Amino acid sequence: MRVVVTGGAGFLGSHLCEALLERGDQVVCVDDLSTGKLSNIESLIADPSFVFVERDVALGLDIDYSVDAVAHLASPASPPDYLLRPLQTLRTCSRGTEHAVSLAKRHGARFVLASTSEVYGSPALHPQPEEYWGNVNPIGPRSVYDEGKRYAEALTSAFRRAHDVDTGIVRIFNTYGPRMDAGDGRVVSTFISQALAGEPLTVHGDGSQTRSFCYVDDLVRGLLSMIDSTEPGPVNLGNPQEYSVLELASIVRRMTGSTSPIRHHGLPQDDPPRRRPVIERAAQSLGWSPKTDIEDGIERTITWFLDEGGARRAATAD
Ligand code: NAD
Ligand code: UDP
Repeated sequence: MRVVVTGGAGFLGSHLCEALLERGDQVVCVDDLSTGKLSNIESLIADPSFVFVERDVALGLDIDYSVDAVAHLASPASPPDYLLRPLQTLRTCSRGTEHAVSLAKRHGARFVLASTSEVYGSPALHPQPEEYWGNVNPIGPRSVYDEGKRYAEALTSAFRRAHDVDTGIVRIFNTYGPRMDAGDGRVVSTFISQALAGEPLTVHGDGSQTRSFCYVDDLVRGLLSMIDSTEPGPVNLGNPQEYSVLELASIVRRMTGSTSPIRHHGLPQDDPPRRRPVIERAAQSLGWSPKTDIEDGIERTITWFLDEGGARRAATAD
């Protein structure tokens, strides 16, 4: 089948493009390279089944060939990235999602929205099942992303009801692995690059806040299952093993053999205190569960950073 992957030059998108090609699908990767990089897809460019289109999906999206599925991943995902581009983030989540789901409608294609655990905000319920409606500050700095994704979920659901589009929503929890950008500000990439450089590890607040970290290969398996199914979701995709940020710092220090000290910085506004997915729905509807434990995943990520992870992309604001 032919799959359009928006955000395909990003961290998750490039792994998804690669996995689709590996199983014999054709891929049209659409990306404006705002937070993604050509180097993420350079090994795919020579593949005749792969087409790259440089485009901002908020400006429109049309594909001449037939399309069987649209996986809509275009959106900044790291807090420093979306805080730097507040208006573009809102435009991408709103207009960009409308263009992507409209493309699916025109082609009678499956549409999968990459939503996020951030729709749960600062959760009053722990761990988070899909039935939980969340606790999001609609006017705080993070709202451009959290509310942008909540709007994208609402829009996707409305296209399903009003136009019978075959839609599916996945709520992705913190995912890490090779091709994370060393300068993206996310905690795993930041700690690994700091530990390898012998710099202090920058822990926000006291480091007691928790996240549940999913290795990218596991996540991509879940995305493929969602593309192949007719499950509407939302479905949580994440690894329910939960770690505090301080625990993560200590794992990274141990696994890199680093003696970098911990340096505490202020906690960003509205930083969620805890995050852990309930994943029964993914198990039941997609037969999915994560397989990679944190030590294996961090080791593979460290290896990639040592081999190739030095480059940092330039940042541009809107
Ligand atoms: P990323 O920043 O590496 O990738 C996003 C890609 O989208 C980039 O290549 C970027 O250039 C592209 N993009 C952004 N705006 C665009 C636009 N208007 N038009 C075309 N392309 C655009 O981030 P990622 O971690 O790969 O995240 C991919 C998706 O998964 C995002 O939708 C994100 O919200 C979601 N997600 C990721 C995580 C995670 O932990 N990585 C967690 C939850 C949700
Ligand atoms: N964090 C940190 N140091 C860093 C980067 C992030 O302590 O250098 C914290 C951040 O404040 C949050 C957690 O790590 O509590 C996860 O941050 P990330 O940006 O990776 O993901 P998100 O906040 O979107 O879950």
